[in-house]
Amino acid sequence: MINLKTFEVWFVTGSQHLYGEETLKKVAEHSQKIAKELDASPIIPVRVVFKPVLITPESITNLCLEANNTADCIGLVTWMHTFSPAKMWINGLKVLSKPFLHLHTQFNQDIPYAEIDMDFMNLNQSAHGGREFGFICSRMGIERKVVVGHWKDLNVQKRVSVWMRAASAWADWQGAKFARFGDNMREVAVTDGDKVEAQLKFGYSVNGYGVGDLVAFINEVTDADVDKQVNEYEDLYEFADNVIKGASNHYAVRDAAKIELGMRAFLTSGNFKGFTTTFEDLHGLKQLPGIAVQRLMADGYGFGAEGDWKTSALLRAMKVMGSELEGGTSFMEDYTYHLNPNGMKVLGSHMLEICPTIANAKPNLEVHPLGIGGKDDPARLVFNVDSGDGINASIVDMGNRFRLMVNEVKVVKPDQTLPKLPVARVMWVPEPNLEIGAASWIHAGGAHHTGFSMAINPEYMEDFAAIAGIEFLLIDKNTKLREFRNELRWNSAFYLNK
Ligand code: MN
Repeated sequence: MINLKTFEVWFVTGSQHLYGEETLKKVAEHSQKIAKELDASPIIPVRVVFKPVLITPESITNLCLEANNTADCIGLVTWMHTFSPAKMWINGLKVLSKPFLHLHTQFNQDIPYAEIDMDFMNLNQSAHGGREFGFICSRMGIERKVVVGHWKDLNVQKRVSVWMRAASAWADWQGAKFARFGDNMREVAVTDGDKVEAQLKFGYSVNGYGVGDLVAFINEVTDADVDKQVNEYEDLYEFADNVIKGASNHYAVRDAAKIELGMRAFLTSGNFKGFTTTFEDLHGLKQLPGIAVQRLMADGYGFGAEGDWKTSALLRAMKVMGSELEGGTSFMEDYTYHLNPNGMKVLGSHMLEICPTIANAKPNLEVHPLGIGGKDDPARLVFNVDSGDGINASIVDMGNRFRLMVNEVKVVKPDQTLPKLPVARVMWVPEPNLEIGAASWIHAGGAHHTGFSMAINPEYMEDFAAIAGIEFLLIDKNTKLREFRNELRWNSAFYLNK
């Protein structure tokens, strides 16, 4: 559903007129070659478009204005092939509203020891040209990613691709719409926040809709549509005995399918990229949307439970960043602990809404009582998740800023099966361990809801935070609680002046 090839990044090369026509022709040739190879690289998720070499302040400013006005252009990769006096860049960078990555590379990988002469030196000057450009970016206080290394190196391309995915998610947020069915769960603090500030800062809007607005769409769904939908469920999922056709709980599967189709129609007609629900407000819905939310997430929609719009938007961004990568991405909640000192870990889940993109096998479709919300027993997909590396991410509103934090986790196999647990589940050990990981998270004010991903790692989130211009905190294997608490204090001081 999320096709990153609709986006393009412009490959922009800086130089100056003093080199003369011959050299500049070579610069353009080199630049074209790199742009073409990046464009064709299977690692690179977006289109890479070559732009003519920039040698005057006017052409730089014009290019930046053109980038601002080109909807498909999600950012620039800048390369100083030669020396590009950086005062030429000031006016352009001042108006540039798209993110950029400074690729600090050189056309030639190796120094040709036997042949190197002054012509080679003149043509391979990014070692100092890149520093001149870096100075003006830092002098202007502009956030950007700097990637150093040879452009053919797959590690270099990987780091560029990570930034491209972050820039794609950022572009996707601009003008995005998120719908809230009902409001925040009453009295909950962390899921609330300043939606006006979020729109100013992030570019997306969040608006509320009465559950009745959704119910009107659900009521439009015909029995024939429900039949078709249930057939699709039968193809994709293992039905529990009491939910197959003719069994006592099959009606709940049909009700759930109807809710899914109604939600899809609502979200499509309003062009929404994500949504929230709340079990406190289900007027006119027969059951809390479970499988509907799970399947919509799998199609790329952002989701937050209990009105959690920040997590819904964050999850959408993580889905865009992880598009077509191996591993899934889901809404998540730290649910229950295993506090055995011999191996403390977290059981992550939610009441129903875990995305089947992280499932390790064909999910089971089951219907069980919910015990909260006072509605019919909802249908849900139940599954386990394979071991591996993952992250949990959370955005919170600190009053004067948004804070994005990420905890690296090791997803592990549960020590035993969980035959009576009626929801999809993941077990993980937070880095560096539960004691320090959870304490750091709690000191930082991280939410109980997160975006959980096994498709992307902290580098994506850090690039995304830099593009968004918000605070970024990482809890990983190197985290020490005392240092982390100091980082929180220092960041508070830093953001006083922002
Ligand atoms: Mn929750």
